[in-house]
Amino acid sequence: MTVFLAGAECPYTCSFCDLWRWTLDRPTPPGALPTQLARALQALTPPPPDRLKLYNASNFFDRRAVPAEDLPRIAELAAPFAAVTVESHANTIGPSTLEFAALLSGKLEVAVGLETIHPVAMQHLNKRLDLPRFDRAAAFLLEHNMDLRVFVLLGIPHVPVHESVEWTVKTAEYAASRGAHRIALIPVRGGNGELERLEALGDFVPPTLAQLEHALEQCRGIRSAVVTADVWDIEGLPACENCRPQRVARIQSMNLSPNPQPPAPSPCSKCA
Ligand code: SF4
Ligand SMILES: [Zn+2]
Repeated sequence: MTVFLAGAECPYTCSFCDLWRWTLDRPTPPGALPTQLARALQALTPPPPDRLKLYNASNFFDRRAVPAEDLPRIAELAAPFAAVTVESHANTIGPSTLEFAALLSGKLEVAVGLETIHPVAMQHLNKRLDLPRFDRAAAFLLEHNMDLRVFVLLGIPHVPVHESVEWTVKTAEYAASRGAHRIALIPVRGGNGELERLEALGDFVPPTLAQLEHALEQCRGIRSAVVTADVWDIEGLPACENCRPQRVARIQSMNLSPNPQPPAPSPCSKCA
């Protein structure tokens, strides 16, 4: 079960991010998140799913976004779940992560945006993240028996378009080598204004459905992590309309199957 919580805006300003649209421009009021979560959980019919994802469009361990006094109640509400996932920038993973994990009945998984390891693109993302910092956060989680989920982008600004798939795959491999158990490939989506500016300058080319399919296929070799493609708004990705349904179906079947051998591609005669 994924619950989208409304709270304070993230202090980072990553160029590709549009999560600020559903946030508050002041600190999250104490009590707001437990109230939202309790309401969302009312919709649940037993038995509960294994995992609860709490996505707050910011960093769960930023105290402006999630007030410390709310953590015990959030943990109490999450008690029926065997695992709980929250999102955090690598910079805010530390002692407060351990404190929350200790309150939970289930296992804590932290989802971290690595986005890319392309050295030039990394600097332009505005993410204020470098690889040693990511490595330290990953090692900290594993050392304390927490799980690591990683977000990897496809179609990052400043990555040459013909290298786009290759850098997504390299980044996923890097995340797996640092102990990520789950990796989500996410196509960069326009619409926040900054990406449109970069597109006009020639620094951003929207990723395509075929690139997402190829990136996912090339990640089949990663055996220490489950790699999936994010299919949110997949209908909006540029694609040949003749073979769009086959490509979407192939991505969905790779998402659901652990088989390292991907299903045979079936592009239309125009694309073959
Ligand atoms: S750290 Fe995450 S939520 Fe914050 S701006 Fe960057 S991508 Fe968006
Ligand atoms: Zn086609």
